[in-house]
Amino acid sequence: GDFPEEVDTLIIGSGPGGYVAAIRAAQLGQTVTIVEKGNMGGVCLNVGCIPSKALIEAGHRFHNAGNSDDMGISVGDVKLDFSKVQKWKGSVVDKLTGGVEGLLKGNKVNIVRGEAYFVDDETCKIMDDKNSQTYKFKNCIVATGSRPIELPAFKFKEGKVVSSTGALALEEVPEKLLVIGGGYIGVELGSAYANLGSEVTILEGTKQILPSFEKQMSQLVSKRLKNMGVTIKTEAFAQEMEETKNGVKVKAEVKGKEEEFEGNVLLVTVGRRPNTDELGLEQAGVELDDKGFVKIDKQCRTSASNIYAIGDIVAGPALAHKASYEAKVAAEVISGEKSEIDYTAIPEVVFSGPELAQVGLTEAQAKEEGYDVTAAKFPFQANGRALSLNESEGFMKMVTRKEDGLVLGVQIAGHNASDMISEACVAIEAGMTAEDIALTIHAHPSLGEITMETAEVALGMPVHIT
Ligand code: FAD
Repeated sequence: GDFPEEVDTLIIGSGPGGYVAAIRAAQLGQTVTIVEKGNMGGVCLNVGCIPSKALIEAGHRFHNAGNSDDMGISVGDVKLDFSKVQKWKGSVVDKLTGGVEGLLKGNKVNIVRGEAYFVDDETCKIMDDKNSQTYKFKNCIVATGSRPIELPAFKFKEGKVVSSTGALALEEVPEKLLVIGGGYIGVELGSAYANLGSEVTILEGTKQILPSFEKQMSQLVSKRLKNMGVTIKTEAFAQEMEETKNGVKVKAEVKGKEEEFEGNVLLVTVGRRPNTDELGLEQAGVELDDKGFVKIDKQCRTSASNIYAIGDIVAGPALAHKASYEAKVAAEVISGEKSEIDYTAIPEVVFSGPELAQVGLTEAQAKEEGYDVTAAKFPFQANGRALSLNESEGFMKMVTRKEDGLVLGVQIAGHNASDMISEACVAIEAGMTAEDIALTIHAHPSLGEITMETAEVALGMPVHIT
């Protein structure tokens, strides 16, 4: 007895793609049903952005508490109760996931718990432990996200060989933490545990950690990590592992030579794969590319014209704000608006020490695209706020078009780069020039002045450096 339920807009997945799409579609007048098989909020809120930043902050506070002698602050033994850190982290997650559920209800979105599976291009089955219910939809937005890649030689094993999810849920700070993968997740979690007291080793296959950033930026991070006692091995390929009594032993080829590493916990973070293989997309006529991402047009429409795809399951950077951005475009398109995606100003941030952030083109990318550019740089050292925060390491770089100063890209390595990058995003999005930024009055003393002064460097007239 399965009578199909008729719905207007069906959204699959409640991460920063799905829940934002649901809210925006409802705001635009659609009747929306969202289906989630796990926790509300997806990877981002439960096992991604939010809990990782909470652990990173706890790490900073613990580390800084014991390392502020130069400011005249000495404390005795700084103690860490990691179970309390975990509890606090959990409370942050709970507030946000509860908030998402509240927002969905407040926007009259119908929430269904279960796993969605396509039968054809207008029908889904939604299953929970016991029941299966058929839904007929007019339009559908798929936002099923991604999961960690598991390497055959390093199968996940709870508490010992972990993905980012397991690394966020450890019950104790491991004495020795071994990390395979020096991308942002490996660096963020590696630094957090290093700050919390682990002896950390990071193995990275390419020539530098954080390979999507310019060498000068990633070098600042590796220098800081090394000062904290973190071992970084580049051009290092982990090959096999062996379980030991209280951890694992990993054999790796480092710059052509075999080396062995030991850890109580091994974190394997070598990328994520899209969740596009287990929900019957082929039965709905939704085509994938050769890497398993859903093919979409500029309006997030798949090869099935009433089915849209957003977030980690489509190509491009796997970032929460990209998912939410695409979510709004898809919701608007279904509502009859002429929106389309424009990836010119998607920021990328690493919450490392110091933080790295970039948006738009790097100097090399701009030149490759044929621009004649000016690359202006300004050091945090010349900014009063940075000095008074005791965070004077790093720089901002602004890439502008020579003929008119149009801002093409900004890269920041330094304290609070994650917040500072927003001004650069606005500048690029609005088509501003270095002069527009330089003419804007920035509050003093603030890190924001670095943006104004970098723009002045681009114009050849910085006040605070010669
Ligand atoms: P997800 O968040 O993955 O959500 C997909 C949802 O769909 C899940 O809840 C899942 O249960 C559900 N689902 C899947 N299949 C089905 C089905 N068949 N039926 C019903 N429900 C289904 N990004 C940033 O921008 N900044 C950061 O600082 C950051 N830090 C991160 C740290 C870590 C450790 C990790 C792992 C990721 C981080 N990310 C960060 C990436 C970010 O989490 C993802 O880009 C984002 O969550 C993608 O959103 P999404 O909506 O596409 O999918």
